Order: sequence, then C-alpha cells, then structure tokens
Amino acid sequence: MSVVLIVEDEQHIADGLKFNLEAEGYDVETAPDGETALELLAKNPKRSKPSRQFDAVVLDVMLPGKDGFEVARELRQAGQYVPILMLTARSRPEDILRGFEAGADDYVPKPFELAILIARLHGLLRRREWLRLSRSSSETPAQNALGEVFNFSGKTIDFSKLELRTGGRTVQLTLMEAELLRYLIKNEGRPVSRQSLLEDVWGLREDTDTRAIDNFIVRLRRYIEDDPSNPIHLLTVRGVGYRFVADPGSGE
Ligand code: CA
Repeated sequence: MSVVLIVEDEQHIADGLKFNLEAEGYDVETAPDGETALELLAKNPKRSKPSRQFDAVVLDVMLPGKDGFEVARELRQAGQYVPILMLTARSRPEDILRGFEAGADDYVPKPFELAILIARLHGLLRRREWLRLSRSSSETPAQNALGEVFNFSGKTIDFSKLELRTGGRTVQLTLMEAELLRYLIKNEGRPVSRQSLLEDVWGLREDTDTRAIDNFIVRLRRYIEDDPSNPIHLLTVRGVGYRFVADPGSGE
C-alpha cells in the first residue's frame, strides 16, 4: 500500500483528500504545516518516534510559516527525494515554475478536480513503483527498454538508483529529472519539443506553461555539462525545444 503525506493547512481540504485517497486504497497521513512535514519526512528524525516511509507528498503552496516552495527546496537539499505533487494556485502560473524550480515533480492547480489529482499522484507512484521493482529484481520492466545504466562521455546515469555519476561526484536525481533525461536520451540526436516533453514525460495535456521544462533543463545541465552555459550534450533547438547528444565528438 502506498503511503502518502498530505501537507495542507485547510483542514476541510486535507480531510477531504485523505478520505478520498483512502477510498482509493492509499494509506494517508496529514500535516498542517511545512515544519511538521519536514519533521515527518526527515531521514534522521530527532524525535524518538520512528518516522514512516512515505511514497509521495501532496504539498500545498500556501501554508502558514514555510510555504510549499521552501518545504520542497529544504527536502531536496536534505537529500529527501520523495516524489512531490504540488498544489498551486490556478491564477498564478509563475507558481508552477517556482514549484518545479524548488524540486516539485508535478503539480495540480487549485481548486483541483479530484480525479485529476488522483491520476497525477497515481502517475508519480507508478513510476516510483517500477523503479523499486527494477531495483529489487533482475527482470527488466518493459518501460525500461533503455536499460538501467546509461554511459556517455565518462558519465554514468543509473536510472534504477536515480543517480548520475560524473567524475568523483554522485548527483541524486529526482524522479522527474530522471524521467526527463531518460526521454531525451531515448530520442538521442532528435529535437524534441517542450510540448511533447510535457505530454510524454509528465502526461500533461492541458495548456501548461512550457517554460517549466526550461527549469528542469537548467538543472540537468548543471549536472551533466562541464560548462552549463555552453552545453554540448543538452542542446537548445531554437523554436523547438531540446536535443540530447551523447557523444559530441562523433561528428554528427
Ligand atoms: Ca493552504
């Protein structure tokens, strides 16, 4: 059973979500603010109470004290890579960008439709689930046709561990950073549009500000490029989107 943490100060929303997610078969806990959530999600909790292993977090942006952006950022900085579904205000598209920048994996605008929220959450958990499967079994899931490890230019991406190893450094990737990289690598050499990234990687169909993608690309460049401002692997294709090149020296 997947364990989900809902971080929302509006009690009736938190209760409604908990009720509906439990009806869907999830095990749900709630936190009324960011501080409580950070404590529950801490890898080495100070409290004696053993912390639970959460599979996903539904994180509201508008919270008393630390807001959702701060909470997401602190979690990522602390090495906590649990998938985060952020609840953003529909009237503020910049929230979506800020959310992705802070380390959120996906978002649902508020007021949300329950079916959409459940579908997005399910999507995040499904990706996480096959990661767990590919980690524990030697069998390769069908989606994992790329293989679990990809090597290029002296760098190694281990998709089963969400790790990028480069030089002596290991970078922990979030679920969606890894998914985005996987998609770009799968389409190596071909330009892919921001729209198709949003649709194929995030499963977003509605009008979304595609600049959200650019924030992810900036982060990925920081990980894989020796000089992120002059990328040689993750290239911008003007007017289209991006193109991944594994071996820039191959004269393509
Ligand atoms: Ca709120």
